Amino acid sequence: MEWHKGKRFAFTIVDDTDESTYENVSQIYAHLRDCGVLTTKTVWPCAPTSSPLTGGETLEDMRYREWVLKLQEEGFEIAFHGATDHSSTRENTLRALARFLDIFGCYPKLYATHSRQAEGMYWGERRLSGARRGIYRTLQRLRGANTLFYGDDPGSEYFWGDICRERITYVRNFTFPEANTLSRDPAAPYHDPCKPYVNFWFSAGIGRDYGSLCELISERSQDRLMEEGGLCIVYAHLGRQPDDGGAAVAEFKRLISRLSKLPGWFAPASEILDHLRAQPGWKPDIEPQVLRRMEWRWLLGKIRVGAD
Ligand SMILES: [Zn+2]
Repeated sequence: MEWHKGKRFAFTIVDDTDESTYENVSQIYAHLRDCGVLTTKTVWPCAPTSSPLTGGETLEDMRYREWVLKLQEEGFEIAFHGATDHSSTRENTLRALARFLDIFGCYPKLYATHSRQAEGMYWGERRLSGARRGIYRTLQRLRGANTLFYGDDPGSEYFWGDICRERITYVRNFTFPEANTLSRDPAAPYHDPCKPYVNFWFSAGIGRDYGSLCELISERSQDRLMEEGGLCIVYAHLGRQPDDGGAAVAEFKRLISRLSKLPGWFAPASEILDHLRAQPGWKPDIEPQVLRRMEWRWLLGKIRVGAD
């Protein structure tokens, strides 16, 4: 893989906005900026109108909104995590995207489904095909988890698939515990012809909490990523901080400082995914056997550790 300007590997973070507030994440972004590690931050444009699922600020919180605007000016990518911290009908998703356009001057290029949002795009059991779908359904029902989502169902009040196809380029799908995303998703970003409302999917490394996040970018992992010349897209939850007096956040910052001194290309996720699409030999449609292998791998991970 040819990375930007002769860099040896590429690295980015897609940060899930769950539990994020100006108070708890602004200093982490200041550190990323100071290290020259520009990443992707998801947002909710609208405040919740019923019980929130996880908590966290939205673009209706003025200090947070001004800070997110500043992040955009500094070169961070601002992405979409659905309208708000609970399910939203088509009408509310449209309103949220209009607000996003109004604030940032463009639509989001990247979207990551928030867990349990009914408007999730090809989410739950629809993430998988063939026998894997039935296995996943059974597994999730045994765990008491919902497997049905409606973002791609034209008969549902939560449908917004046509809007997603029109305005969003990249949607996050599978996550894996490996740092080198390309080792698990060699076709990224890819189009799946069975899921026409999503232009391109991408996978990421699981950073469910600071433990898995720091594991993913450990010193050993960084060195290996460089040796492999790979790409690491971390799906992080920077606002989900343990009550440890700031130790986990400090360790994360230390690892980012180290990483930033290596000859890597640090850019927002969409920029890196655009670069992959521009490579000679890249094909839009994923080959069925490559997709099957990836689905099995993710499903087995889900059975073992409950991967997102
Ligand atoms: Zn979320």
